[in-house]
Amino acid sequence: ESKFNVEAIRKVFPVLNQEINGYPLIYFDNAATSQKPQQVTDVLLRYYHTDNANIHRGIHTLAERATSAFEETREAVKDFIHAAEVEEIIFTKGTTEGINLVAQTFGKANLIEGDEVIISTMEHHSNIVPWQMICNEKGAKLKILPITNEGELIWETAEQLITSKTKIVALVFASNSLGSINPVQKIIELAHNAGAKVLLDAAQAAAHLEIDVQKLDCDFLVFSGHKIYGPTGVGVLYGKRALLEAMPPYQGGGEMIQEVTFEKTTYNELPYKFEAGTPNIADVIALQAAIHFINKIGKEVIAKHEHRLMVRATEGLKRIPEIKLIGTTKNKIGIVSFLIEGMHHLDVGIVLDAKGIAIRTGHHCTQPLMNFLKIEGTCRASFAVYNTEQEVDFFLESVARIVARRK
Ligand code: PMP
Repeated sequence: ESKFNVEAIRKVFPVLNQEINGYPLIYFDNAATSQKPQQVTDVLLRYYHTDNANIHRGIHTLAERATSAFEETREAVKDFIHAAEVEEIIFTKGTTEGINLVAQTFGKANLIEGDEVIISTMEHHSNIVPWQMICNEKGAKLKILPITNEGELIWETAEQLITSKTKIVALVFASNSLGSINPVQKIIELAHNAGAKVLLDAAQAAAHLEIDVQKLDCDFLVFSGHKIYGPTGVGVLYGKRALLEAMPPYQGGGEMIQEVTFEKTTYNELPYKFEAGTPNIADVIALQAAIHFINKIGKEVIAKHEHRLMVRATEGLKRIPEIKLIGTTKNKIGIVSFLIEGMHHLDVGIVLDAKGIAIRTGHHCTQPLMNFLKIEGTCRASFAVYNTEQEVDFFLESVARIVARRK
């Protein structure tokens, strides 16, 4: 049983309190972005109404307030992922920017012709394209860890593929399309034994799985604020200090410098070296409220609740013979991908929206995965802390009705 009261939680998400097409909104598109609790939007408003100032440079009171709230968030993020030092926490725009940053700095400095970068079949486009770009530039090779038809990494092939040629393994922690949780700890050990670094795309994992970067011993980890009940436009790059120190800067500009002359610039220390320009101050500060929101309930409690919903949805869909579940039903986060026989996934999404149910349809920015599975896309329901069993039941009834009417 959950230690929390889902009805009380729903009350702090004003967006949930509305009807769509005459039905109560059922928001099952949480893997795309989660809704925001009042605590988060209150902070945004309060910041702009009382504390707004640029950070780090000013000595006036507002600047000090803004700076300390901004840096407090860095502390909160450090604790959230159990990093050793705040200097290892870099604020970005999101997961995508974090991966581009590593590809364009670590990749640029370290990749040479003939090197290999390893990703998997189930990567989001944001963990494919940045590596393709830098590999093309450097004459390095992009290699793909294969998966089974159920969406699980094939371990034996991983052992063969990761070699002394491998410079970096960039792997999704939990798949946004299928929900599969990858054996990241084992992959990290394997990669380190081969002398390679590992970047984890924790975009989906961050809200649902306990993350301890020191225990994992990953070299880089990235995630987005907007998928963990925080605002859009802010994300996190974690990197081990020694690696970040050795990497060239990403963008040039204010804040990332120590001293500038027309002849030469020296760069600022970590983490500022990677934070050129005025950052997304308000959203970073509000991210702290999102982290507190999660911590207060407890990630484990949230994960258990979502797991229960996922199992209920999966079992319900399994009872409908015309439904094809896509991906594993085992070790996964609260994501259910499916197709209805003889029906386009887009049409399913449209009919469910008419009932107030928001799911995601399409390739979920994982076209190579869809190609591998020989499908165009899926219908994806993804769960969050505020979803309920009644919602899952109404969703199942609605799907059953679609199937029945389709005949
Ligand atoms: N990786 C995964 C696994 C994701 O689910 C997402 C978002 N759908 C991203 C990367 C990209 O995140 P963002 O768009 O916030 O940069």
